Amino acid sequence: MARAWLSLGANIGDPAAQLVQAIKRLDAHAGISVTRQSSVILTAPWGNTDQPDFANMAAEVETDLEPVDLLHVCLDIERDMGRVRHEVWGPRLIDIDIIAYERVEMHTGRLTLPHPFAHEREFVLGPLREIAPETADWIVGIRN
Ligand code: ATP
Ligand code: CA
Ligand code: CA
Repeated sequence: MARAWLSLGANIGDPAAQLVQAIKRLDAHAGISVTRQSSVILTAPWGNTDQPDFANMAAEVETDLEPVDLLHVCLDIERDMGRVRHEVWGPRLIDIDIIAYERVEMHTGRLTLPHPFAHEREFVLGPLREIAPETADWIVGIRN
């Protein structure tokens, strides 16, 4: 079993309900248990600021999936929930990113761990600090 930390965000539809739905779907997967959840915070959009505010949260999971398989489950849930990719950093029904997977550091075309922008996003680090402060410190430490 490995521990991993996810960042979830949504800013169209019913963002808070979509976060709940995404957590349910993650936990329903045979290879994933959601073990901790942060509170939900409302944040101004990052990158592309001309869009609705986001609801963001972090979750800790225990999983027997390898990192890339966990990513695929996240992407499948996004797709099943109706996410359509229009533009980078544009509005979305649901976004599920892997912030960190144990203390793995990797960089491939599909997956970068820890998440490449986690250390500079307060909407990722804030919720993560609530549930896993030592992981938040580790990310900030290796990226700065
Ligand atoms: P950002 O990555 O800046 O938060 P985004 O979440 O809007 O932007 P997406 O369109 O959801 O970007 O994802 C684009 C691709 O990023 C995914 O298909 C995935 O292959 C890749 N990716 C790389 N590292 C990660 C990671 N740690 N978590 C999730 N996706 C990742
Ligand atoms: Ca993202
Ligand atoms: Ca994403």
